[in-house]
Amino acid sequence: MRLRNIPGAKEHLAASPCVIGNPEEWKGKWSERFGSPNPVRLEIGTGKGRFLLQLAQENPDVNYIGIEKYSSVLLRAVQKQEEAELPNILFLRYEAELLGNVFAPGEIDRIYLNFSDPWPKKSQAGRRLPCKEFLRLYDRFLRPGGVIEFKTDNRGLFDFALGEIGPGGFQLEALSFDLHHDKVLGKGNIMTEYEERFSAKGNPICKYIISRKVRES
Ligand code: SAM
Repeated sequence: MRLRNIPGAKEHLAASPCVIGNPEEWKGKWSERFGSPNPVRLEIGTGKGRFLLQLAQENPDVNYIGIEKYSSVLLRAVQKQEEAELPNILFLRYEAELLGNVFAPGEIDRIYLNFSDPWPKKSQAGRRLPCKEFLRLYDRFLRPGGVIEFKTDNRGLFDFALGEIGPGGFQLEALSFDLHHDKVLGKGNIMTEYEERFSAKGNPICKYIISRKVRES
């Protein structure tokens, strides 16, 4: 996402009740933080938050956390929530790499990765949010059988991500190379900002759902 630094964004986030500034302190206690035992689902790289806001509105019995590394981008999501005042959504200005400090084993029910940055150079593959190293990290806090849903219009990134599923400790549950014409996976699809932009150009949208392999403890 191209970034324009927005003056005052950091201060706005620091003062907002829907942004958690000390998320490490809530590790293992997110249900307590939400005040309900409902499942907790994450969007990592949430951008301007449209997808998550709509999801939270449609599913009041699920708690959502949007994670975004740039204040100036997250600001837009937070402003939307400040208008909507949904009780089941929080945001973190945080880096995906560090999420093991924030969530305890089994605490998260589902993760959404939407239009993750492709990092096209081979040497940058480890920064792609659906790479095997990240999958192993997500595996540490997803519940057994928990799922990850990934969407992108970038076919190169998608093919790469498909190859990372097994090495990352996951298994494929569902797949589409053209989500908007897929009667099953496309049902109830909520578009993200990027999805709207790229599908309007005629790009087909790819999606997978993968599940965490259940392991013996
Ligand atoms: N998900 C949104 C959508 O589909 O419209 C935004 C997509 S944008 C291409 C990717 C977003 O992921 C950017 O806002 C970027 O800052 C964020 N991001 C990338 N790497 C990240 C990381 N390691 N931790 C947290 N956020 C990250």
